[in-house]
Amino acid sequence: MPFKDIEKRRENSRINGKKRRDKRLAEEGKKGYVYKLSDDTNYYYGSTINIKERMNKYKYGKKDCGGHDLDWSNIKFEIVEEVPYTERNEVRQKEQSYINLHKDDEKCLNKMRAFSTKEQQKKDRVKYNIQWRLDNPEKYEAQKKKAIASQVGVSVLCDCGCKVSKTHISRHIKTQKHINKINNK
Ligand SMILES: [Zn+2]
Repeated sequence: MPFKDIEKRRENSRINGKKRRDKRLAEEGKKGYVYKLSDDTNYYYGSTINIKERMNKYKYGKKDCGGHDLDWSNIKFEIVEEVPYTERNEVRQKEQSYINLHKDDEKCLNKMRAFSTKEQQKKDRVKYNIQWRLDNPEKYEAQKKKAIASQVGVSVLCDCGCKVSKTHISRHIKTQKHINKINNK
């Protein structure tokens, strides 16, 4: 099984896990946050419904809370607004309202990067895809169902040499049989 497919599966299961967790958090607290990351010059708005996780990411310098282009050796994190909500999108809309207010300020980094590396483009694409799935859950589910339906009865040749049904490949690659065969190759 090609490495990129394994990666894709991992990414999907990560997204589903995050969705479930976001849902649980939403039911418990129903409070989201718009936050602002800034260095001495520039700033970036983001939003989250899991402020604890976001603060941890910020604390440990994980840049997936946004603001990739900021100077992370000198960064400030502040909550600009608490947003009670019923749908996650309400928090995003609030975040967007801040971005709109500052859209003509070149110090505000919430915009398409004029220049970006291939690596950054890839990251942006992944981020866009994740966002799309979150914003279009019905469409995403329908797509997923269609993809699964198209795989029923189709078998593929695994990297280990086994012929495996496409719908079982993720289970198959975890089996001892597969692992042994790969190791003995
Ligand atoms: Zn295999």
